[in-house]
Amino acid sequence: MKGSYVTKFADLGLSPKILKSVEQAGYETPSPIQAQAIPLALAGHDILGLAQTGTGKTAAFGLPLIENLLASGKRPAPKTARALILAPTRELVNQIADNLRQYVKGTPLRVTTVVGGVSINRQIRELSRGTDILVATPGRLIDLIERRAVDLGQSRYLVLDEADQMLDLGFIHALRRIAPLLGTPRQTMLFSATMPKQMNELSSAYLTNPKRIQVSTPGKAADKVRQSLHFSPQGEKTELLKDYLDAAPDGLALVFARTKHGAEKLKKHLEASGYDAVSIHGNKSQGQRERAIRAFKSGQARVLVATDVAARGIDIPDVSHVYNYDLPEVPENYVHRIGRTARAGKGGEAIAFVSATEIGYLRQIQKLMKLDIPVAGGERPAEEKPAPRGQGGGRRRGGGGKSGGWKGSRNRRRSAA
Ligand code: AMP
Repeated sequence: MKGSYVTKFADLGLSPKILKSVEQAGYETPSPIQAQAIPLALAGHDILGLAQTGTGKTAAFGLPLIENLLASGKRPAPKTARALILAPTRELVNQIADNLRQYVKGTPLRVTTVVGGVSINRQIRELSRGTDILVATPGRLIDLIERRAVDLGQSRYLVLDEADQMLDLGFIHALRRIAPLLGTPRQTMLFSATMPKQMNELSSAYLTNPKRIQVSTPGKAADKVRQSLHFSPQGEKTELLKDYLDAAPDGLALVFARTKHGAEKLKKHLEASGYDAVSIHGNKSQGQRERAIRAFKSGQARVLVATDVAARGIDIPDVSHVYNYDLPEVPENYVHRIGRTARAGKGGEAIAFVSATEIGYLRQIQKLMKLDIPVAGGERPAEEKPAPRGQGGGRRRGGGGKSGGWKGSRNRRRSAA
């Protein structure tokens, strides 16, 4: 079976109309997660999917969802949504909606987004007409439900995207409030980059006989990345980073910092030193984050400083270097971070800066990766205990990395520059 057999979109049970959208999107071959999920979702199964952003999972749940919504031929009543997609961050919501809008072109289906940090009145107005697919962050959605701007009683589809990330954001609480408001019977699809224990609880609470699907583990994505580490005192890391940036002047660098404050300070310092740097973290407004990502995607800015949470799930193409300016406290985040540079067919560099207090984190990472990361420079210091945690931005699980593998599209995400 293996080898010459390649699944085609036309074999998955999609209608000609949707096949046309897929073609227009420039997708030639379904990604592994799509090949697995689409037939199951079309058949009405609940799905528990282990997949990161970059695997094509939006189309994996989006195409069958659209297909099912079209098949019923209904139109949404005012203030209702026929399907609900919950995602942890504003960026991810917008990214999902951008993709879905591409797929619904030429159909009467409407896609509406609801995120915090922007005017709620506009969202209330938009929802007043009703929508087919509502893509939302949980917090703002609850606000809108409380204001009676939207009624989920007609929603028969629920997608929980990047669910592991939402666990960290108090999402369980929100979901407990939101899920009972949806109509029955309901098809639920849950996607997550990692499968922490709570995911099983979530799955048994909200999914019915789910089909489990999985694409290559994060570790695989990391195979293509050249990893190294550089021992450095914390206070000298900025200079070290500048040396590395200077040594690869054409590269596009994604720099991970542990805290919002640290990310901003680093970005300001880099800017002041003449580097085109932008940052994304929890203290940035929606508009600021979008501008930063656009600048980075278009190559206008060559350094993006980010926290795990802010970078989560963002589709950032062509990163040549990932710098772990601070090591993540959660070792899985290292895998997700460096996976940002391992795209289909391409390799990349991942360099970790390790201070005395981060040796413990390094040990955990090496244990998880089952390898010793080669040392590129610096002197291994005696291990010190980490200081008590600073402000937010850290301690997050997961971090949607890239794990390509299927043939790229002719038409990868366009940056809306
Ligand atoms: P996602 O994991 O859904 O965020 O998708 C990552 C990127 O892959 C997006 O830019 C999609 O437009 C693109 N994509 C999704 N499915 C395919 C496919 N079958 N072939 C090529 N590109 C795809």
